Amino acid sequence: MKRRKTPTVWVGNIPMGGDHPVRVQSMTNTATADIPGTVAQVIALARAGSEIVRITVNDEDAARAVPEIKARLLALGYTTPLVGDFHFNGHLLLRKYPKMAEALDKLRINPGTVGRGKQQDPNFKTMCEVAVELNKPVRIGVNWGSLDQGLLTELMDQNARSLEPKDAHQVTLEACVESALRSHEWALTYGVKPDKIVLSVKISNAPDLWWVNRELARRTDAVLHLGLTEAGMGIKGIVASAAGLTPLLSEGIGDTIRVSLTPAPGEPRTREVETALEILQSLGLRQFAPTVSSCPGCGRTTSSFFQELALQVSEELNRNMPSWRERYPGVENLKVAVMGCVVNGPGESKHADIGISLPGTGEHPRAPVYIDGQLATTLQGESIASDFMNLVQEYIQRRFGKPLA
Ligand code: SF4
Repeated sequence: MKRRKTPTVWVGNIPMGGDHPVRVQSMTNTATADIPGTVAQVIALARAGSEIVRITVNDEDAARAVPEIKARLLALGYTTPLVGDFHFNGHLLLRKYPKMAEALDKLRINPGTVGRGKQQDPNFKTMCEVAVELNKPVRIGVNWGSLDQGLLTELMDQNARSLEPKDAHQVTLEACVESALRSHEWALTYGVKPDKIVLSVKISNAPDLWWVNRELARRTDAVLHLGLTEAGMGIKGIVASAAGLTPLLSEGIGDTIRVSLTPAPGEPRTREVETALEILQSLGLRQFAPTVSSCPGCGRTTSSFFQELALQVSEELNRNMPSWRERYPGVENLKVAVMGCVVNGPGESKHADIGISLPGTGEHPRAPVYIDGQLATTLQGESIASDFMNLVQEYIQRRFGKPLA
């Protein structure tokens, strides 16, 4: 799929837009003033695959904490760019705490919360000026939950006077797009260069998200950040995010994504990163980790052995990926198949790099293993699972291991 043509925006050491891959980003939910907690969560998000992490800078304690957070991350070897999320008081905090502004790699400005009435323009201008002085990019991030009410009123009044008025919902969507585009123009007026600007309009339902982003893509060549806002929890949030992002990404719209999941109590924050990676990998836009294909199972697989093996293979690959990425360049392209029986098992296994077909109910208790499309061996007995994992590891070592110097 062909991507939209956009400038390249550098966020810290990460290039975004242009010909660069669609970037994954996330946001912490720790209090930023909690320095150890925020550092730990940024590291967890980065290790999960987040290439950029946003933190809220909501008050003076948070602003004071930012330079120390950045310093600790760098000391631990994490160069993950940090984005400061500002609402209401960003113009004040950025001027009062210059070390905070310097430590951040991008500033997020929400046109709906930057200030009201006469204050909106000077506050917006101040934030742009800080970005220009420090050579930092900005994201002009519109959210329909905090849409600029002055602009909405203006467009509603215009609509009421028109001969063919649209419904209020449509006018709201148009106001979201207009807010982003007008702010983009203002940012340029205040000296922010086109390759320092990212735009986003976030909406909480998929069809509206498609509309606003297609409209942005049609009317600007700015780098676009996509995200279904307030996606919700669990499977609902994951599916809604995939439904929201997939059509846009498959049309080449979107240079970076964030999945906004509400974690269930005890659920790791990293779930939003895992979801974003899976969306991009499923679309063939990025390859982050080996692909494990497994059949859904059916009445031919009456034991849980097949599910356990599929889970074990996935977990073992995921667990090892942080170190394997270093040791085995290209290992993320590995394809493994774990199939429940011989109906589709050998065929699917031949399409994978390495695949196993477990014996279905009533089948001879033997598990053929295919490597690079050829029958390599047949496993049997109690140790099928561990034997297969050993074969996977040997394959990885052989194919992706760096030659000894
Ligand atoms: S491969 Fe076998 S076990 Fe898996 S779904 Fe197909 S028939 Fe059922």
